[in-house]
Amino acid sequence: PLKRLDDVQARICEARQKLPILGEEQLVMEAINENRVVIICGETGSGKTTQVPQFLYEAGYAHGAGIIGITEPRRVAALSMSQRVAMEMNLTTREVSYQIRYEGNVTEDTKIKFMTDGVLLKEVQKDFLLTKYSVIVIDEAHERSVYTDILIGLLSRIAPLREKRGNPLKLIIMSATLRVEDFTENKRLFKESPPAVKVDSRQFPVTIHFNKKTPQDAYLSEAYRKVSKIHRTLPEGGILVFVTGQQEVQTLCRKLKQTFPLKQDTGKAKKVEISKRGKDKRKLQKLQADEKPEMPAISLDNYSVNPIDEEAELEGGHDPDNELTDLFGLDDDDGDEDILDGGAEGHVSVGGCTQALYVLPLFSLLPSRKQARVFEPPPEGTRLCVVATNVAETSLTIPNIKYVIDTGKVKTKFYDRVTGVSTFNICWTSKAAANQRAGRAGRVGPGHCYRLYSSAIFNDDFEKFSPAEITRRPVDDLILQMKDMNIEKVVNFPYPTLPDIGQLKAAEKLLVSLGALTPPEKPKRFRDMLKEAITKITPLGRAMASFPVSPRYAKMLSLGHQHDLLPYVVAMVAALSVPEVFVEVHSLPSASEAEDAFRQKVQHMIQIRKMWSGTGDSHLLGDLMVLLKAVGAFEYEGGRPEFCEKHGIRHKAMKEVRKLRAQLTNTVNTVMSGADLCVDPRMEPPNNTQAKLLRQIILAGLGDHVARKLPVVVTDSEDSKKKLKYAYQARGQVMCHLTSTFGRCAWKLPAVQMEYPSGLDKYKLFAQSCWKEKLQPRTETLLKTLIS
Ligand code: ADP
Ligand code: MG
Repeated sequence: PLKRLDDVQARICEARQKLPILGEEQLVMEAINENRVVIICGETGSGKTTQVPQFLYEAGYAHGAGIIGITEPRRVAALSMSQRVAMEMNLTTREVSYQIRYEGNVTEDTKIKFMTDGVLLKEVQKDFLLTKYSVIVIDEAHERSVYTDILIGLLSRIAPLREKRGNPLKLIIMSATLRVEDFTENKRLFKESPPAVKVDSRQFPVTIHFNKKTPQDAYLSEAYRKVSKIHRTLPEGGILVFVTGQQEVQTLCRKLKQTFPLKQDTGKAKKVEISKRGKDKRKLQKLQADEKPEMPAISLDNYSVNPIDEEAELEGGHDPDNELTDLFGLDDDDGDEDILDGGAEGHVSVGGCTQALYVLPLFSLLPSRKQARVFEPPPEGTRLCVVATNVAETSLTIPNIKYVIDTGKVKTKFYDRVTGVSTFNICWTSKAAANQRAGRAGRVGPGHCYRLYSSAIFNDDFEKFSPAEITRRPVDDLILQMKDMNIEKVVNFPYPTLPDIGQLKAAEKLLVSLGALTPPEKPKRFRDMLKEAITKITPLGRAMASFPVSPRYAKMLSLGHQHDLLPYVVAMVAALSVPEVFVEVHSLPSASEAEDAFRQKVQHMIQIRKMWSGTGDSHLLGDLMVLLKAVGAFEYEGGRPEFCEKHGIRHKAMKEVRKLRAQLTNTVNTVMSGADLCVDPRMEPPNNTQAKLLRQIILAGLGDHVARKLPVVVTDSEDSKKKLKYAYQARGQVMCHLTSTFGRCAWKLPAVQMEYPSGLDKYKLFAQSCWKEKLQPRTETLLKTLIS
């Protein structure tokens, strides 16, 4: 075993020597030694994340009192990079450790600590000067995640302060792109422009192939086709596919594994290679015949609300095994073999690669043991095919990729300023991101990138860069955290990119209305009129800041101790914070599905939800009662998957609710002395009085989400009869969810044509996106209707 370990070390050492950044060690370290803040840019895979911490360690930055801290926007990177660096340095995980939200292996011997940016932000709250660290490396700064941006802003102030106190802190900002002006040219952030060290990397040419046409929403089956085609016709070399979320990764992996099953003895694949062409051809025909009925169904309805965890949210916590695909059947293959464009021309097109296809998923929430497999060489005689979310864009470098398939899509949080509702939409990524993706194919040799969209779409519809996250999401939770850190003038904060001032003000206003901040003082003197009015955090605000949920829900929790309602509030907030507790219901059956069967399924689900909502007087909490009873019944019945299956609940979501319920219960016990709360698996449903009280608590958090019922005339597209329906007017216009106990809608809803009272454009947009595109309005919207 010792010899094997030596082998591994030798191989690592050899690979290390080849990394571009190794030749720049002196330059990098000189810049760091001489400057307080240094920016390092280098292509993904040039060795920034794995090598810079080692440079720092070797230069003695962890030998004194302080340690080396590295932040990552993604948990997967924090974890796998700590393991990789420990291995490269021949140190244990006691010394090179990681800390992510729920877990970590940090010890008092830790010298190099990888963590998510959220974890470091929490540490700033406890120790503003971050005295534990001698150097902080902010990795993947180009991603411009909100926490990263805030950390850079904070550190721009912390570093000079530390210097003044004679205990200097170095700040290193690492980026995979050269677009760093937001950091270097931002005088509010750094008075003196920090130097940017550029690491040159060997990047082999990547040939870009655009699709002639852009498949409408069918990018997943298009990706499937492209992998199949590449695998059958093009020479050896790993394939990397970019899709948008965990569910898509799993669906595509499953389909590919079915079409290209990995034989037990892959060693034999080599021998097959020499066998007759004819045999291969027959096999190929059989494979083609096999794949037809197994085209993946694509669902765009992967929405969620109020993230407990941005990352989990972005990738959608779907369990593919019992949901949409199975519930609503698979789409038929349209048999369009033509769809493969000229991309393959000019390559060896006969025989291609006779290896088996070794398919691996990659997404943030994949257990680390499984993640690690993408770094290992694939079994002999197989071709690696990694299906990944955009974690593979810059945070992880997968070795030996020659072909990249880019769907061009990314899941982005979309915030509607008028309705105040956030949804996750799948949209085109940016040109910069698409080029990053393409670059993954050129690490080991010349490669190819297949873009499943046309060059016209790329040129016209793709933004140049992805915007900083802070500019496109509500910032109420962030403002609360900043106020909790006693940063009072949030508008003056040195953001790398200033968020929309309107958003900042809206967030402050919301927090004032929730009681988390004091109302701004009226200016006493005339000359104060022009000054920024300051809101201060209240004791309630501090309590709210300690709950790991959005401020609205934190407010509910903070009120729950009255009338012994806490167990209900905790269960409810936990359920509200987990995306998609219920299996989604479409308003229309999928193409391949019999209408009757579909109608039955939907009716059944609606029936169960109706039953849970209660009747008459007890119909007080509507959809929230459904949620609460689902949680209660699930635990009461022992938390079995069969129960979920039967009741249209996602088992995985329920397990998450359980975890969060436990976590919230602990937090409540710490924050509220004497709460003495515990999770009761046999919690009785609330009685009518309790339900009424709960309603008030909900309103306390969602007072600005009240909707008013409005009559709307709609025209049924089929029988063109006019019907009176009700929509709800909130700040914008909302409509009832298909399964909402308030909507009492039949499964069939006006799908195409609707008439609107004048001035209801917003409503029209919203309704159209909900019904026409088969998208679902989400929980938050339900709430608006609920409390009307
Ligand atoms: P950068 O941060 O500049 O993108 P990294 O330091 O992450 O680059 O990666 C440098 C090299 O180390 C890459 O070629 C990558 O393949 C390799 N590498 C990183 N992590 C692992 C791992 N866990 N196993 C094997 N190789 C790895
Ligand atoms: Mg990196």
